[in-house]
Amino acid sequence: MPDAPSTDFYAAFVKSGPGSFLASRLGLPQPPVLRRYQAGKPALGGPVLLGGKGRLVEPVRELLADYDLVVNNGGARGAEKLGGAVFDATGITSIDELVGLFEFFGPQMRSLGNSARLVVLGTTPELIEDLDEHIVQRALEGFTRSVAKELRDGATAQLVYVHPGAATGASGLASTLRFLLSGKSAYVDAQVIRVTDKDATAPADWDKPLAGKVALVTGAARGIGATIAEVLSRDGAHVIAADIPAAGEALSEVANKVGGTALPLDVTSADAGKKIAELVKSRHSGLDIIVNNAGITRDKLLANMDEGRWNSVMAVNLKAPKQLVDDLLAEDALNEGGAVVDVSSIAGIAGNRGQTNYGATKAGVIGLVDAYTPVLAKKNITINAVAPGFIETAMTAAIPLATRQAGRLMNSLQQGGQTVDVAETIAYFAAPASAAVTGNVVRVCGQSLLGA
Ligand code: NAD
Repeated sequence: MPDAPSTDFYAAFVKSGPGSFLASRLGLPQPPVLRRYQAGKPALGGPVLLGGKGRLVEPVRELLADYDLVVNNGGARGAEKLGGAVFDATGITSIDELVGLFEFFGPQMRSLGNSARLVVLGTTPELIEDLDEHIVQRALEGFTRSVAKELRDGATAQLVYVHPGAATGASGLASTLRFLLSGKSAYVDAQVIRVTDKDATAPADWDKPLAGKVALVTGAARGIGATIAEVLSRDGAHVIAADIPAAGEALSEVANKVGGTALPLDVTSADAGKKIAELVKSRHSGLDIIVNNAGITRDKLLANMDEGRWNSVMAVNLKAPKQLVDDLLAEDALNEGGAVVDVSSIAGIAGNRGQTNYGATKAGVIGLVDAYTPVLAKKNITINAVAPGFIETAMTAAIPLATRQAGRLMNSLQQGGQTVDVAETIAYFAAPASAAVTGNVVRVCGQSLLGA
């Protein structure tokens, strides 16, 4: 997938010969080149070290049988750099045992390759009855977020909390591990993902996890939405690309490129849900995936905000994502086993000056995920959200240079993300193999300092 056109002249400069020399002399940040997913290429740049003594280490060894695994041997092989390290911390039940993190990861810190992946596996703290175990499992979060800040060369660290009742095979964990242990999670850093006790079926082909599925992507004519359409289609889905009628030709181009269907549609119109339902019922056997990506900004300081700006942002960013799901459920057009993925923003987590309207809607999207998780679970439908940070799009290219450069550098990976990074995270949530992943908000922000 080609990267979005970047206006990051700084990154280009420090990668050049004289630029790199100057940057290292002056102690300026030198953003690493992130390893991203390419079909047919190994998921990681080296072997994965697997360790720990919990209930998950054996199932994980089986789930990752096609990875180059090094199990509990205390280090990488010879001079080979590690592609990843997974530590099963579910066996840690006392404060003293937390030393296991230090003992496992400490010696590996200098043997990590470019874009290496550290993954800590724990037990969902709020579901643990034992007081000590609850405390130490919660402690894993501080470890993971801190070690992520010490990593270099595009390496990342994540924490996955697995339900204490997850079946022995932990099949629900497979899609999350494969997402995290690959270039698909290039710009996802220091995140916490919760996996339920549901079992999940692995796809026939992990390179086509959405085979046979029908997906609706709103706001698909350009930017992040266009890339979501491409990635979902690459993964095997038939994509219905929706955008406002004025998007016209751009929308048709996206739909043609992905062999999908163009649907000119204003998501705020009263009959939007009905139109989608009619389409998916007449041409397909219902809808499996909804990606509520369409979003707008109408920035003004609150003192200067007018009702029009306030209301239009509410309508597109928050009312429509809720209404579409309600209408498609009412029309019985959303299939069992399906997935809803919403697009929030770090502005909804950290807040942003001049964006009281936008920030409210993007926090509302997180509320939507929380509120609808149990409702949709009754129909075996998952709901999750991504919260992008600074992503290289036409929207962020319009930000004044100094602010833009600060936005890019204020994260552990020292660069902006690509639209593909958001799209890969959405594809991970959308897959049937992620049936055990619901109610999550994952930031795609390179561990941005904002709202951290
Ligand atoms: P964009 O403006 O490039 O694209 C948004 C698309 O949504 C456009 O094609 C637009 O026509 C469409 N749209 C707007 N109103 C619509 C409506 N009523 N009905 C149907 N389509 C409509 O924006 P983007 O940067 O690609 O952002 C996509 C999503 O990601 C948005 O929800 C945005 O809030 C979110 N986001 C973006 C960033 C970033 O850095 N770019 C960061 C955080 C969150």
